[in-house]
Amino acid sequence: MKKLHLCSVCGFEGLEEPVFVEGEYLKTYEICPCCGFEYGFSEDNDVIHGFITIPEEFIEVAFQLYRKKWIEEGIKIFNPESIPDDKRNQEFLKFDILVKNLKNLKLDLSNFEIKGFEDF
Ligand SMILES: [Zn+2]
Repeated sequence: MKKLHLCSVCGFEGLEEPVFVEGEYLKTYEICPCCGFEYGFSEDNDVIHGFITIPEEFIEVAFQLYRKKWIEEGIKIFNPESIPDDKRNQEFLKFDILVKNLKNLKLDLSNFEIKGFEDF
């Protein structure tokens, strides 16, 4: 089985191509089946920011903006069939799975000013 890669936005291990290779951001135009982030597109089109395009060194900013929006809007799965039944409630990711996935990204969850994350 092909090795899958972590999504830098939601932590789901389901990308066919890595987001970074040797520190370089790849615009793969692959869409994460979990959070729906499209690498190479979403950072400039699906987040609201003051830039026309996000400079590559600030790509993490776009990830954070998208992640926050996605979580606050209810962690709706982009392509539910690609996520096992026990990890979701219909088309929504289970919250404990979200937390587990985010921990894969080694994010500091105590820093999240997002509803539902007050207890971390
Ligand atoms: Zn994702």
